[in-house]
Amino acid sequence: MRDTLRQDQDPYVTLITPKAPVSTPTHGGRAKCLQRLIRLELPVPRTVALSFETVHRIAAGELPDIDRILAQFPAGALLCVRPSSEDPDWGGPGSILNIGMNDATFVDLSDSIGHAAASSLYKRFVMAYAIHVARLDPDVFEEIEGVGQEGLSEALRCYEEEAEEPFPQDPAVQLAEVLRSMARAWEGTTARLLRQAKGAPVDAGLGLIVQEMALGLGSGERGSGVLQLVNSETGLPQVTGRYLSQSQGREALEGGPAALYLERDPRGPSLEELEPAAFEALKEYAAFMRKKLRAEMQIEFTIENGRVHILDGMRVKRSPRAALRIAVHLAEDGIISRQEAVMRVEPRGLSELLHRQVDPEAARDVIGRGVAASPGAATGKIVFSSSEAQASAARGENCILVRRETSPEDVRGMHAAVAVLTERGGMTSHAAVIGRGFGLPCVVGAARMGFRLHDKILITEDGRRLREGEMITVDGSSGQVLAGAPRMIEAALDDAFHVFMSWADAERDIGIRANADTPADATTARNFAAQGIGLCRTEHMFFEADRITPMREMIFADSPEDRKAALARLLPMQRADFIELFRIMEGMPVCIRLFDPPLHEFLPSDRAGLRDLAEALDLPVSDVTRRVESMGEYNPMLGMRGVRLGIAVPEIYDMQARAIFEATLEASQEGAAVVPEIMLPLVSAMREVELVRTRIDAVAAAVRNERGREFDYSLGVMVETPRACLRADEIAQHAHFLSFGTNDLTQMTYGLSRDDAGRFMSHYVQQGVFAEDPFHRLDPEGVGELIRMGVERGRRGNGGVMLSICGEHGGDPDSIAFCRSAGIDYVSCSPFRVPVARLAAAQLAI
Ligand code: PEP
Ligand code: MG
Repeated sequence: MRDTLRQDQDPYVTLITPKAPVSTPTHGGRAKCLQRLIRLELPVPRTVALSFETVHRIAAGELPDIDRILAQFPAGALLCVRPSSEDPDWGGPGSILNIGMNDATFVDLSDSIGHAAASSLYKRFVMAYAIHVARLDPDVFEEIEGVGQEGLSEALRCYEEEAEEPFPQDPAVQLAEVLRSMARAWEGTTARLLRQAKGAPVDAGLGLIVQEMALGLGSGERGSGVLQLVNSETGLPQVTGRYLSQSQGREALEGGPAALYLERDPRGPSLEELEPAAFEALKEYAAFMRKKLRAEMQIEFTIENGRVHILDGMRVKRSPRAALRIAVHLAEDGIISRQEAVMRVEPRGLSELLHRQVDPEAARDVIGRGVAASPGAATGKIVFSSSEAQASAARGENCILVRRETSPEDVRGMHAAVAVLTERGGMTSHAAVIGRGFGLPCVVGAARMGFRLHDKILITEDGRRLREGEMITVDGSSGQVLAGAPRMIEAALDDAFHVFMSWADAERDIGIRANADTPADATTARNFAAQGIGLCRTEHMFFEADRITPMREMIFADSPEDRKAALARLLPMQRADFIELFRIMEGMPVCIRLFDPPLHEFLPSDRAGLRDLAEALDLPVSDVTRRVESMGEYNPMLGMRGVRLGIAVPEIYDMQARAIFEATLEASQEGAAVVPEIMLPLVSAMREVELVRTRIDAVAAAVRNERGREFDYSLGVMVETPRACLRADEIAQHAHFLSFGTNDLTQMTYGLSRDDAGRFMSHYVQQGVFAEDPFHRLDPEGVGELIRMGVERGRRGNGGVMLSICGEHGGDPDSIAFCRSAGIDYVSCSPFRVPVARLAAAQLAI
């Protein structure tokens, strides 16, 4: 080595030593990791790091002192250059190996490692240089067939012909050109767009690593490979990786049948048998790295006649389930703290553990795309109606319900199906909300597919026609629809999951409840350790086939007597529902929202439905049709909904309040006293609350009187209209709690229909009008400002008021962060999102 780099001469080119000033933000993750390995005294070849600043200058035409870099390595050494970005996921230009190969080194290496290996190294370098550095036509070089000296000569000749100059012999020129081409590749538009899609900032930098090569080619047992101590899919301990004799870089991973397993393996020969000492050393290095770097690492190594070189180490790639298990094992082994383990799992990734998923390794034949409305994946035969879905379930066949959009009449079909696909809708449309509630994979708004429901044909985005009974897969995690039945991986609610979640709960400082409408939902909520029910949408209790008719009769009632009779039929059903919910929740809070149906949702829209209703009511179809038409609203979302129904037809809320109180007394006999929470939807004025509250208090008094027993309850208001936020101080004076209904609040703040926004939302997001779908991620600026106002004014009006949110945003980590910062006491979300919310909230508190 001729001259050692002095940091004061070129602060941006650094020989990596244990104390050299190398950091991830200035030199990239790979440089920093190599420094850690060097500090651990692992056998890492000599390495120089070029900082982001240096690489940026190289791209602009200003080269560092190349001779000084070369001076760090033994004369005649072969070098490789690798990218080192801040986050390895952002990618970077491919590594270039064997820099320094020229006619002279070829002669020297022919003596030391053999003629064939030297030819191969030289040829590889010429080809890589030609294609990636000189940017010559790859086809010309990929067609070279000769091997050994012949192949090398052909490659050199091709280079000279294509480049119109001889292959550069000076290692300084070679290195300079490699650095320049890699620096420029990083700054190119395509590379920039690709990494930005992975979350890299616009000005993300690239560092470069220049490393002396260990030769995996040549005489004796030489080769290269990768090794890690865990399975990347499951996170379970397992030595995995491949080794390939006579190879370099990551060739072992593409090495096909010639590559060896690492451990003894019935499928073929292994490194353990070939080089037992090297194999043992590698395992020890990996275990040492795990302990010292506090992460499961993948080692890239070369073996040179028994000598092991560690070229690189990187965190193992890991699925969400592997990430969770690895974090738990590291904490259990005392390598990281429990808090750190909690921080190491991405909350959104948890949903992969809660549902079956398409195996990430499986081939995907994507036939359509829509909004990923409810996670998980399922495969089944296409059906186009709820009755077909039920018939299919009765035959024991999995089916996918394909509809233009869903309505309450489809709930029975959704129950029978394994997944749902709709042409219309967004994150808060009927199919999406019900799908998430059922834990049913769901893709909505797949508008580029053709939904020919009458002909029973589904047309794929690329024009294929699928008929009823054909097999498709709905991937509600990615929003993709796939042809056929790709390989799946099962949900993983194992011990590691439960241990991990208990660690998360120990950190959390806001409450997490579930939105649960039925006993099945409530059971799921309990299984996922929700701390109560934050929203029971009582109208959803009437979506079942045997319940919808009495509900319709009640809606249709002409006279107070008819309505009374219909309500008398509904009362015991409601009472039984509430008793069951209280029982399942065992004294945990249960917040019951009084009816909030856009009434049209309960009315039949097709001929068969109208006929069924006519039969049930014993009326001519024409009468029923007329009534249904007369009840139609131009904008039902802003029509006769929520508390407006309670004001206009107060007997309905009276019935619900009675059912709740009677159930309260019944359930309280069995265990701890139940204290129900009753919530009024769509409030916009204090007077609405006053009026309804007076009636509910009267019902409570009547039930106490009749039964001769006491009970408590609390009454709260859903804050889901902008006016309710603005008037929260006076509203809070009449309420024990306020719950922000962020679905409607988003709809009304933007003036954006939650059912129709799916049609154009992707244009809005793609063109950056909205950073994200505001029905998915709470808009912190507009809707958020109204919430902050509501929180502040609500607390001003009533210091003891409890505050929560119960819109779909309750399960979104970013929205939860907003809610916590706004001072919300708890968030409530679909049962299957409860673990995601628990983890996200825990991470915010750490
Ligand atoms: C809301 O509007 O945020 C809400 C939770 O109620 P729903 O979705 O039932 O309108
Ligand atoms: Mg609402």
